Amino acid sequence: MNRREFMKNAALSLCALSIPVVGRKAFGADSDPIVLEKKEIAGIPKFEIPKTQLAIPQTSYCKRVVFVRYGGGVRRQETISPKTESPFFYHGLLKEGTLFSNVWIDRESITGHAQGSLYTMTGRFDNYKGQPFDVEYTPLYPTFAEYVHKGLKTTSTDCIMINNSDNMSTEFFGFSEHKDYGLAHAPILLSEWALMVRRLERNLQKATGSNRNKLLQKQKELLQQLYRAEIPSDPKTTELIDRLDKEHGERPPLGDELVAELAVRALRELKPRYLQVHLQDSDYVHWGPGQLYRRGVRRMDTALRRIWETIQSNNELRDETALVVVPDHGRNMHGSRRIPYQHHDTEDPGSHEIFAFFAGPGIPRGVRIDQSLPQIDATATMGALLGVATPYVHGKVMEGVIS
Ligand SMILES: [Zn+2]
Repeated sequence: MNRREFMKNAALSLCALSIPVVGRKAFGADSDPIVLEKKEIAGIPKFEIPKTQLAIPQTSYCKRVVFVRYGGGVRRQETISPKTESPFFYHGLLKEGTLFSNVWIDRESITGHAQGSLYTMTGRFDNYKGQPFDVEYTPLYPTFAEYVHKGLKTTSTDCIMINNSDNMSTEFFGFSEHKDYGLAHAPILLSEWALMVRRLERNLQKATGSNRNKLLQKQKELLQQLYRAEIPSDPKTTELIDRLDKEHGERPPLGDELVAELAVRALRELKPRYLQVHLQDSDYVHWGPGQLYRRGVRRMDTALRRIWETIQSNNELRDETALVVVPDHGRNMHGSRRIPYQHHDTEDPGSHEIFAFFAGPGIPRGVRIDQSLPQIDATATMGALLGVATPYVHGKVMEGVIS
């Protein structure tokens, strides 16, 4: 699509403004805050799988999508309400796009990090059962990265997934083993694990004697964590890692600061068609102190600001990129714990209550929509933005982002 066609499509998406949407209002009026009342789990909707095949997009509205999986589990209270711990997101970014304030995860679906990520990646509430930690999942149906890679016939570095190594269960599941998709359409992984693997490769080239044996053992242990037969790599992302290490003396930042650094570099240097970024630091609150949650949310907010500013500071990225922000799940609202949000139990309605945010060319700015919508509608909407068919997605395109 050339620039002229792109602008025409962007203008068409603006026409969506004339379509009435339930609960649409200008954002920012604290006199009309987002509803945060306590409710029972029965108050969370049950998702019904659509009986008919959903429409396949015929056109694209933007060239690139950056999808930020916002936490680690975050609640609406600390993100999209006036008591926010996300000052950039709440006071700055929300004015730049459309916020869906009343998004939910199916009440019977597990609210774990792996599960929540897989729901958004596949656009389905499939049942991924397992132990709570370090579960080696494989998506049952294609991920959004696979749809983009196959649908747009992109190069390997056009689809990149950046993971926070705090949660190994989300490290290698960027692609399914679906017969029509799979490894050939998998995204490139950038993460602390990928950095460590590359450093060992580099150091092994010059190591000798006992030091070499030590490094070989370390490499073996590291590669044992990779539960898939293979994941793709590319010389361009390897070079990106080498440059990062050179500039930071092999001591780059950690956690979501590293995730943000990798995202910024991937955007500037590779301009991928689809970038999936997993922010996760809010989840340290599992250890107990509430401060860990608030500090983590603020670090995620800083990461989000860096990603947005990188997009806005480059003409090509600014005119062609949609930013999408959706949490993997919420956190507990109830319970007898001193810090109710310490965990994110499937039985607690707060774990199911989230939001979705879209910003970019043609997407209405400063709009809030309170309509009740399932999390997986965000996946269908990303497909519509890029003009990519997502045939196994159960969600529908969210009305109000594009028509
Ligand atoms: Zn957690």
